[in-house]
Amino acid sequence: MPLPLAELLSPALLDRLFARIDARTDEMVDLARALVRMPTINPPGDAYTPCAELIGNRLRSRGFIVEYRRGEGTQGDSDRYPRTNVIARVEGRGRGPCVHFNGHIDVVAPGHGWTVDPFAGAVKDGRLYGRGTCDMKGGLAAAIVATEAIVDEHIPFHGAIEISGTVDEETGGFGGVAYLARQGLFSKPRVDHVIIPEPLQVDRVCLGHRGVWWAEVEMRGRIGHGSMPFLGLSAIRGMGDFLGLVERELYPKLDARQTRMPVEPPGARHSTLNWNSIHGGLDEGYEGVPSPLVADSCRLVLDRRFLIEENLNEVKAEVIELLERVKRQRAGLGYTIKDIVVFHPTMAEAEAPVVRALDESIARVLGRPATHIASPGTYDQKHVARIGHLHDCVAYGPGRLELAHQPDEYVDIAEMVASAKVMAAAALRLLAA
Ligand SMILES: [Zn+2]
Repeated sequence: MPLPLAELLSPALLDRLFARIDARTDEMVDLARALVRMPTINPPGDAYTPCAELIGNRLRSRGFIVEYRRGEGTQGDSDRYPRTNVIARVEGRGRGPCVHFNGHIDVVAPGHGWTVDPFAGAVKDGRLYGRGTCDMKGGLAAAIVATEAIVDEHIPFHGAIEISGTVDEETGGFGGVAYLARQGLFSKPRVDHVIIPEPLQVDRVCLGHRGVWWAEVEMRGRIGHGSMPFLGLSAIRGMGDFLGLVERELYPKLDARQTRMPVEPPGARHSTLNWNSIHGGLDEGYEGVPSPLVADSCRLVLDRRFLIEENLNEVKAEVIELLERVKRQRAGLGYTIKDIVVFHPTMAEAEAPVVRALDESIARVLGRPATHIASPGTYDQKHVARIGHLHDCVAYGPGRLELAHQPDEYVDIAEMVASAKVMAAAALRLLAA
């Protein structure tokens, strides 16, 4: 018989569970270090299979049912770089919901400026250093140890707990969470609540994120001799007109829009637009003296982050309207615009069960109230919500977002331990509901 709620969440039981997690601090660090030593750099998607197997072998030996699913045919998938995902599940004693912890195993390239080996996992002053410690192998290790502690404490919870290590989050998550969500692995009845231990800080619950529209704009003019530019039609001048219009007319509008989403930092509570890249005319790779040409092409990549209150069609229309004006002003000039990527904004309700469970657990473990935030950039929550139609999903985990993708990335070990306690208590709260 499953225990009644009161007993499942008794202070004595939670104290025992927390003591067990404390006692496993070194083990948690060792696990995170072992994950960091797998250089799962994406792109291209290195070492995914051994990293997934590290997680799978560990959890199988502790009684979890382990399954691997390769994102066959998804972006970047090949026999050399298979998109290997791992999903582990442990059943409780009675029927009930399923709490799923999802962490991405891919990391971005280390880049320059490190003072420690990015793939060694050095510990210094209570911090674990290395690429992916903060984003997000530290959080994944904390979720794994939290779940193992529940199992080893023989707590007779209802339902099931799942842990997945998934690929490609840094490049859109198509071979990872999106792929698994299409197969029903992030939907009811299999899963009810999802916690993604991204580095959003140990006392904050991240309800969701803004949307993304990445597009490529190409201006097309007519080639000509650089000494007689009036005989050609400069695509660069056309692009200049477009940039000027955006600067004068669109940016003030975007700055004036404010979202109800609690995005951190607050500067990102407005609509934003970034010029990711721009190039016009002669190929940048030329050597010596350039040939005297009027640029017949100019391309730029725009990165528009939109709010939950905005509509994607309107977001696109206000850019296209300015392009049309440029086209009308310069006879003969044309343009094309094509989407590179679109992700819609998503946000869990502040009263959602997973949010309430984390709020309560944060207050219990840290002795202070939780803060609700939203993320300026996206993460895998969008796939859980849009493809899996599961909206009881948030991000919660140790580490600071500002350190993600930086040199000398680290995660604070005490925060890993605290977050593991929060995750364990929140999972029990949900499984006792
Ligand atoms: Zn991440």
